[in-house]
Amino acid sequence: MSEEFFWWTDPQKAIYKEVRVFVEENFEEAEEYFWSTKFPWPLVKKVAKKGYFGAGVPKEYGGLELGATGSCIVAAQLGRLYAVGHVFTVSMLAGLEQVLRFGTEEQKKTWLPKIASGEELGALCITEPFAGSDAANVFTSAIKDGDEWILNGKKRFITGAGVSDRYFIYAKTSDDKAIRKQYGHITAFMVEKGRPGFSLEKINPLIGFDNVPNGYIDFDHVRIPDFNRIGAVGNGWNVMMSGLNFERLIGAAVFSGLFEDVINLLFHFTKRRVQFNRTTNQFPGIQDGIAEIITKSKVSRLYSYHCAKLLDDGKEPMVEASIAKMINTEYARDIGLKAIQILGGDGLTKFLPAERILREAKIGEIVAGTNEVQKMIIYRFSAMLPFYNKPMRLRWNDKVNAPIISSKESQFKGLDLTEENVLKVISHDYKINPGLYMTPDDVREDIGGSRSELRKIFEQLEEQGLIVTHRDRSGKIALVKSTYEGLQKAFPKEYYQWFPAWYDNADKF
Ligand SMILES: Cc1cc2nc3c(=O)[nH]c(=O)nc-3n(C[C@H](O)[C@H](O)[C@H](O)COP(=O)(O)OP(=O)(O)OC[C@H]3O[C@@H](n4cnc5c(N)ncnc54)[C@H](O)[C@@H]3O)c2cc1C
Repeated sequence: MSEEFFWWTDPQKAIYKEVRVFVEENFEEAEEYFWSTKFPWPLVKKVAKKGYFGAGVPKEYGGLELGATGSCIVAAQLGRLYAVGHVFTVSMLAGLEQVLRFGTEEQKKTWLPKIASGEELGALCITEPFAGSDAANVFTSAIKDGDEWILNGKKRFITGAGVSDRYFIYAKTSDDKAIRKQYGHITAFMVEKGRPGFSLEKINPLIGFDNVPNGYIDFDHVRIPDFNRIGAVGNGWNVMMSGLNFERLIGAAVFSGLFEDVINLLFHFTKRRVQFNRTTNQFPGIQDGIAEIITKSKVSRLYSYHCAKLLDDGKEPMVEASIAKMINTEYARDIGLKAIQILGGDGLTKFLPAERILREAKIGEIVAGTNEVQKMIIYRFSAMLPFYNKPMRLRWNDKVNAPIISSKESQFKGLDLTEENVLKVISHDYKINPGLYMTPDDVREDIGGSRSELRKIFEQLEEQGLIVTHRDRSGKIALVKSTYEGLQKAFPKEYYQWFPAWYDNADKF
């Protein structure tokens, strides 16, 4: 069975094989750092020496140029080394996409080789005490002073706080209400550790991330040169959004390697655990559980690499990145819970890596935009897509004496645009969709005419109590339907009646 996908390039396939070997050689060392709750500096240095931090960095800036797909391949494997995976991930997120897309050539030459070499770690700083899901509501301010910016404020929940040298931050550069409304009040900056006034405030004791520092940082009149501004002043929201698709994808991919380790563990364990004189892998419930985990592992992996390919092809897979992030973290939670159940009491101990996945999953469901926020993105962006907004009108079909989905013209098309005919159109719709309103465009599609003519007729019919309208926030008519009086005026009662062929006439009244 090949674990490589056919669309991967040869260098991507090669790095997959190489990083797997690297991870397996260093597995034990990673576990030692996990148990001693020590940041795995020596292991991070080894990863850096291999050049893996440069997976997504173009060759001209010292990277491996393996794109989003290559970054996912490396993240998925390094995720098996626990803290190393997280550090690898945030270090790339702290500038790679943002500098590549918005940086000047000089900025690219300054920071991309540093990201690629992994000599310095990076941290991504969006969240603040009062700005979480509402990431645009940043309070950290940046005020221009000659050729410099002065930063004031706090960021929190920053992964890699303290151990990182580079902090990619978003600060407010305008309080103008009109500018804020257009999301033009945010600007992106790179801040290096060691600048006067820049300090570490707190390290969080967390449910997971056992040996990865995560904490608060403080900017007290921190001066940085204008050179450290990434993108135009006020363009920070776009810089942030461009980084987020990549961030969500990599944050999702980092779980895939762990899923495979858990599957291995479950096969190993259940072939050796005997209860009721049978190995537990013979119990159908255990087999079902492992099958479910394998299914989720494969689906999440496939979806992540599909999304990575879209990114590599230059697309903006906003919905796909949110889906990848959401399903991988939800699957991680399900897999963690199921694996613990299959392992029994042993699964609850830290000796086996199942409980770790569960704790990591809970973090995953909150970081990089909570899964509720991902659902919001998936809904809102999909609702705008033409793909999901194709016409789907039901029309009455005399042959089958029922409403069926049809692209045929309405029977009312071409009639004069009078109150009487418009009322007929709206009332006829009751026969087809008794519980639905029509949009003004539905009515227009059926009978023709201009929007303004129709609006006037709607208002007149409403005044006479023959239709009701549903208006949007601006007061514009968004939906219409006939009232009881309207239905009576448009057609006789029999027009709306419908009975199946088997229904006894004697029972009709
Ligand atoms: C371990 C860890 C590592 C992190 N690493 C980083 C990092 O490196 N850099 C960084 O900048 N941040 C980081 N974060 C912060 C993380 O991105 C935020 O915690 C996350 O975006 C949620 O913000 P919040 O915690 O303020 O929750 P809130 O925004 O206060 O949300 C609380 C609840 O309200 C819900 N909610 C909020 N708004 C809506 C809405 N409009 N509709 C429906 N529900 C809503 C949320 O889904 C959630 O359930 C990290 C967090 C953790 C725990």
